[in-house]
Amino acid sequence: MIHHERLRPPSHDFPADEWDVVERGFHPEFMAQLETMLALGNGYLGMRGCPEEGGPYAENSTLINGFYETRPIVYPEEAYGFAKTGQTIFSVTDSKIIKLFVDDEPFWLPTANLLRCERRLNMKAGTLDRDILWEMPTGKQVLITSRRLVSFAHKHVAAISYEVTLLNAPAAVVISSEMVAEQPGARTDGNDPRQTRGFVGRLLHPRASYARDRRIVLCHATEKSQLTLACAVDHALETACSHGYKANHTADFGQVAFTIEAEPGRPIHLTKFMVYHTSPTASPEELCGRADWTLDRVMHQGFGQLLASQEQYMADFWNRSDVQVKNTREDRTKRSTVEIQQAIRFNLFHILQASGRAEDTGVSAKGLTGQAYEGHYFWDTEIYLLPFLIYTSPRIARNILAFRYKMLPQARARAKELGHRGAMFPWRTISGEEASAYYAAGTAQYHINADIMYALRKYVQATGDEAFLRNFGAEMLVETARLWVDLGFYSDAKGEKFCINGVTGPDEYNAVVNNNAYTNLMARENLHYATRVIESLRATEPDAYNALVYKTALEPSELKAWIRAAENMYVPYDEKLKIIPQDDEFLDKERWDFRNTPADHYPLLLFYHPLNIYRKQVIKQADVILAMFLLGDVFPPETKKRNFDFYDPLTTGDSSLSSCVEAIIAAQIGDMEKAFRYGMAALLMDLADVGGNVKDGCHIASMGGTWMMLTYGFGGMRDNDGTLSFWPRRAPEENAILRFPVTYRGQRLEVEIGLDKVEYALREGECLVIRHETEEVQLSRENPVAVRPVSRRIAVS
Ligand code: BGC
Repeated sequence: MIHHERLRPPSHDFPADEWDVVERGFHPEFMAQLETMLALGNGYLGMRGCPEEGGPYAENSTLINGFYETRPIVYPEEAYGFAKTGQTIFSVTDSKIIKLFVDDEPFWLPTANLLRCERRLNMKAGTLDRDILWEMPTGKQVLITSRRLVSFAHKHVAAISYEVTLLNAPAAVVISSEMVAEQPGARTDGNDPRQTRGFVGRLLHPRASYARDRRIVLCHATEKSQLTLACAVDHALETACSHGYKANHTADFGQVAFTIEAEPGRPIHLTKFMVYHTSPTASPEELCGRADWTLDRVMHQGFGQLLASQEQYMADFWNRSDVQVKNTREDRTKRSTVEIQQAIRFNLFHILQASGRAEDTGVSAKGLTGQAYEGHYFWDTEIYLLPFLIYTSPRIARNILAFRYKMLPQARARAKELGHRGAMFPWRTISGEEASAYYAAGTAQYHINADIMYALRKYVQATGDEAFLRNFGAEMLVETARLWVDLGFYSDAKGEKFCINGVTGPDEYNAVVNNNAYTNLMARENLHYATRVIESLRATEPDAYNALVYKTALEPSELKAWIRAAENMYVPYDEKLKIIPQDDEFLDKERWDFRNTPADHYPLLLFYHPLNIYRKQVIKQADVILAMFLLGDVFPPETKKRNFDFYDPLTTGDSSLSSCVEAIIAAQIGDMEKAFRYGMAALLMDLADVGGNVKDGCHIASMGGTWMMLTYGFGGMRDNDGTLSFWPRRAPEENAILRFPVTYRGQRLEVEIGLDKVEYALREGECLVIRHETEEVQLSRENPVAVRPVSRRIAVS
């Protein structure tokens, strides 16, 4: 069930477009949403889509992944083991400000007479483009065009190409390029736990500042997290009009003001380069030096080269990742198909922007598009995002998994603190320390440990990167397996089965429960995988095995305990309903009164005390249904269908992580109407503000979920047993074909699901064996294969 309306902005001003997200006119009523939607980022640096003029804005964040400040988490009632230190991302120096004055009149969007105004998130080039024609009260017409980018090729660099042309009269023009270090604190709504926590007082403390010609460098550091930031800007001005400039700065502010005697028809072209360097160890002097040399390089190369590298990066990305939906009928430009295409690309583009250069960091729930969820990394990354990255950009996936490995020491310490063996990864974090202040919907989500190991297995299967498994993965497997064996117990009451009590599953509306089915199933998977990997290491790579034993003090007897726990894992089952109960008590609870819940009381978490929610049969997000997708080969189609029919009416979809998963299972059980409905909710989650909170940032997990929905759901992809197979359904639109690439073990396969045939073509690589339904398909570069689906029946996964 979906309880949310779509709030799609009017199509005449927001036209459907396959490659761009376009806004025509100035729309203050959608300002906050558009800042999120038109945000640019590269996984390291992110800038919300606020105008160059320094305003107006709802939240003018410039965010750096992993750059945060800490604060004590204050509990009115303390208890042992509660997370003590909060970590919160915050807006750093805003360097993108370019103010324009014509005859001393400031250009200000809300008051300007705009003869033309258009913004365009250009997803092919990776830029945000703006085109404005401003008529002043004096009748002077000013053309302002700009192009902004946050570079993928040069992780520390952003740039704006800004051009002003007087069309019909001369004028005195001033272009004031500015940077401001201290930002107003983030807006927060104390009633919405998803939003960020505001800080009181200064966060960036000045360490150094200087100006040289048209360059300004400001360096600051945080007090408690002890991170240092250097932000620097430099400029190039080209114009045939006579001009001059003046620069000045303070510790928190920098300005280079260009004064130009503008002549009609003669463009004034300013290029502004912005550089960010951050470090936990480097001194301010050293960081400023880094910023200087990065600026020297990009100034030398110029905007053209930066843009070319951006376009190249994007072209490679789309080549590996683009999912296409094309109408086969006469009307190839059918609006709904174009809208679907736009939404697909919008989701994939934002995933790239959240993760592309996330090196030595994770990917936060909002990427770098907003401060909600405090810039924290959750299980969202492993379960929702990594599948897309593993199958399209395995290098990025590896970086992210390597970052998890880096957290292992803190995870071990956290396990110890809670009296467990092994390692316990934090539910939410930036630094690796647990930062979840509400344990019931936080620390209790032990499933994150199995989720990370699930993603590891998928990564290794799809890439064949055994070295990663050997050097990093195996150690995480040992420690997580230890955790599960320590956490659970053999219960008399459950016939000596291995039970895991007192945990919270993915569904946060049922907290601290016994035997959450998702957790038990995923823990079982974790234990089996750990055993397989360690046994194979012992048999085939004695040196690596010995190194692992040395690092983890692994006892051979431990593996027996893992196998025993896995084989005896308790998975709840209800004979009467023939479904898997979400946990031991779920079926005993009273059903939530959906009929008398006003439509505007969703998400329930904003309107009902947790206790009201916890004691009822009501679900925030896919839980058992998610397990049925992730561990698809364990469940026959009839089981999936019965469980889907039972859980769907109870699922509010209050979390954006839900509808994509429901769409997949709906497609797998052949309920294409629901698959389409949920699929559209996921696809439009941010473009049509389905959750009503896109103003706070993109829903990155749901965005990853849309790729899974298209490939695993509509494309019928399966990979549970390590071989790629396809049980194709159809495109998420009538009379349309669905086409997507998949990178598997260094080879690139393209799958096209047509109306009456499916084609598999190997675009890169020599030969690949896949399965189409039950048949084996051998592919070579010269030999694409077309097959007719035996039927569009329920897939036997
Ligand atoms: C969901 C979690 C998710 C978090 C961050 C919550 O609302 O319930 O599953 O990890 O948001 O996206």
